[in-house]
Amino acid sequence: MFSRRIDAALEGRKTAALDRKITVLEGGNQPSFRFGDRCYTNFSSNDYMGLASSNELSKAWQEGINKYGAGSGASPLVTGFSTAHKRLEQTLCTWLGFERAILFSSGFSANQAVLFSLLEKQDLLVQDKLNHASLMEAGMLSPASMKRFKHNDVNHLNEVLSTEKQSLVVTEGVFSMDGDLAPLSEIAEVTSRRESWLMVDDAHGVGILGENGAGSCNEASIKPQILVVTFGKAFGLSGAAVLCSASLGDYLTQFARHHVYSTAIPPSQAHALTHAATMLQNQHWRRDKLMNLYDTYNAALFGIPGFVETKTPIKPFICGDVTKTMMLAESLKKAGNWVTAIRPPTVPKESGRIRITLTANHTKKQVTDLANSIIQFSEKNNKG
Ligand SMILES: *Cc1c(COP(=O)(O)O)cnc(C)c1O
Repeated sequence: MFSRRIDAALEGRKTAALDRKITVLEGGNQPSFRFGDRCYTNFSSNDYMGLASSNELSKAWQEGINKYGAGSGASPLVTGFSTAHKRLEQTLCTWLGFERAILFSSGFSANQAVLFSLLEKQDLLVQDKLNHASLMEAGMLSPASMKRFKHNDVNHLNEVLSTEKQSLVVTEGVFSMDGDLAPLSEIAEVTSRRESWLMVDDAHGVGILGENGAGSCNEASIKPQILVVTFGKAFGLSGAAVLCSASLGDYLTQFARHHVYSTAIPPSQAHALTHAATMLQNQHWRRDKLMNLYDTYNAALFGIPGFVETKTPIKPFICGDVTKTMMLAESLKKAGNWVTAIRPPTVPKESGRIRITLTANHTKKQVTDLANSIIQFSEKNNKG
């Protein structure tokens, strides 16, 4: 029975040309890498600040291993929580301006933990339509009723908010597939006027936007009740934290099952993450470098159909249908640029795109070469 279901689902993906494959890289995450018999510039990673391949950060992790050994050995409430974890929490609280930070081993589990532990049947969860899969899935599985508002549409959010129910509004700070920003100050205003709570998932904003990289909320001068930051993007590692008040922190420590019943991240990793947080705050050159690369990218591609200007390292290039998206991806790969084709169901139908990400480790020439390849493809394919 299960086998038949599995085969049918796999076949369906294949016929729709939507099947996905895992790419096995030989080296680690680098600005360029070898795959098969050639070298590619990596425009696919979320390592926006270049920390994943930073020697300084690797050294910090090694130092952590020397100090704390390999694994944490237990969940946080048992014996898995060390001074390294405590210091990471404190660093995040000071930097981001919250009373408490609760650590999770991934952003996916942090989002699930918050929604599952906070929401009850009589509550209303209101989410931006384009929120990350982890938030959408948690919302669907939670006992609360869920409504979605049109992407970044504050008027629609206001309509959707209920007067009878206690509501939690959830948005991303920076949207992962479009690289655009949520109108956070307006969302915060509506949310507080309607006596609801606001949760911001700033996976793609922290480290990049705001003063000293404090993220989208800092940039918009707001403070949500709940801020989720993940460590797999600008931090160059993995894991996540929920920033909140002392009482919500206590509550999550008691009731967030992904925290209570899951092994704490290795203390060496917490040690490295504290170092990454310091690098993100202090190494302004990484943000400056990114800004320069945005300028290069924008100047080269401005006016080309499919080009979208963004204030973030995420540069979607919109192709439309699946075939054209795959053709552009192929053609860019031929020219030595590794990019990701994003297809439905990850993005809405007919908005297939190439998701290009810039990092502080790219050179100006790499970005210019990429732009030239896009222009060549565009000239050839918009004529015929
Ligand atoms: C990547 C991402 C997550 C998941 O974080 P992981 O640490 O990779 O599990 C959650 N939310 C958003 C918006 C993301 O982009």
